[in-house]
Amino acid sequence: MSEAIKTDVLIVGAGPCGLFAVFELGLLDVKVHLVDILDKIGGQCAELYPEKPIYDIPGIPMITGHGLTESLLEQIKPFNPTFHLNEMIETVEKIGDPGFRVTTDAGKVFECKVLVVAAGGGSFQPKRPPVPGIEAYEGGSVHYAVRKMEEFRDKDLMIVGGGDSALDWVLNLHPLAKRITLVHRRDDFRAAPHSVEQMRALVASGQMDLLIGQVTALEGEGNVLSAATVKGNDGTVTKVACNAMLPFFGLTMKLGPVANWGLHLENNLIPVDTGTFETNVPGIFAIGDINTYPGKLKLILSGFHEGALMAQKAVKYVYPDKRVVFQYTTSSSSLQKKLGVN
Ligand SMILES: Cc1cc2nc3c(=O)[nH]c(=O)nc-3n(C[C@H](O)[C@H](O)[C@H](O)COP(=O)(O)OP(=O)(O)OC[C@H]3O[C@@H](n4cnc5c(N)ncnc54)[C@H](O)[C@@H]3O)c2cc1C
Repeated sequence: MSEAIKTDVLIVGAGPCGLFAVFELGLLDVKVHLVDILDKIGGQCAELYPEKPIYDIPGIPMITGHGLTESLLEQIKPFNPTFHLNEMIETVEKIGDPGFRVTTDAGKVFECKVLVVAAGGGSFQPKRPPVPGIEAYEGGSVHYAVRKMEEFRDKDLMIVGGGDSALDWVLNLHPLAKRITLVHRRDDFRAAPHSVEQMRALVASGQMDLLIGQVTALEGEGNVLSAATVKGNDGTVTKVACNAMLPFFGLTMKLGPVANWGLHLENNLIPVDTGTFETNVPGIFAIGDINTYPGKLKLILSGFHEGALMAQKAVKYVYPDKRVVFQYTTSSSSLQKKLGVN
């Protein structure tokens, strides 16, 4: 196990509410690390609707999911938060009063005074394609994400899907893999047109294969694949040598490990005190879509408000002896100094 990273606050989830919480905590001199399972910052806004317009962010008539993420990142820049992406928080253990030791699935350990759960709908988990027996190869030859490209060097690699993830990995892994076969259910791709063009050029020059149809069977021993059968939309059946498979069928949200952290749950949501957004465990707060209270609205603006109130209580755990004076950013020169604007 690696040496613990010490921080005032650890935020689980880098969605919009986790990001804005960095701002509110930063104004109170509280240092933050954030962990997210995704390979990108922005939670649902970045993963589910980056191009879609949002019309109900106060003071911003229209902004896309991607645009909002970029603006929040710009806003929290002065506080220099540290992001740990591609990692899932798995365990939370109480070590102080308050104080927590938190570990990720990659073996990283944090020690924090305060834990803020901003985990949204929970963890994004890959959808499993409907291929009989695929579970047996998960953790062996079937991967739903690329953690290390080197794993795919010299492999007969099958990538399944037609979105950006599938096409991006076709193009990124093409130089490393022995041979790539892309399988998609129709000859029409949702991915960026430029990526589709590049993929088609590789197919046309014989550097990779494209099969239109569905994977119907897998062959191998233990969790090691040796071949996959693809049934074409025209009825043809092709057996393809394959010792690694990357299916990209999108993501679903599941509560995941949050359920095991000793927090009360109501319908998979975390009840909170609406004056502080603290949970039943002192020092653990829950903001954004993951919490519940009478009248809760799963809106980004609710999560922003929750982050502001959470910070007022969290700072008391981080600096128990400090008197916190409420100030406006408009008129406080000390806040403006922290923001680097004065
Ligand atoms: C299509 C669509 C349109 C929407 N439009 C609007 C709109 O117009 N206006 C509006 O206000 N809201 C809208 N919403 C809702 C809005 O996106 C959510 O309210 C908002 O994203 C909640 O933010 P959050 O930070 O609480 O959680 P999320 O955005 O869900 O982020 C949570 C993050 O936590 C991470 N995570 C979870 N568990 C762990 C773990 N154990 N370890 C590490 N990381 C973890 C997840 O990977 C995720 O990135 C829309 C939602 C959808 C799906």
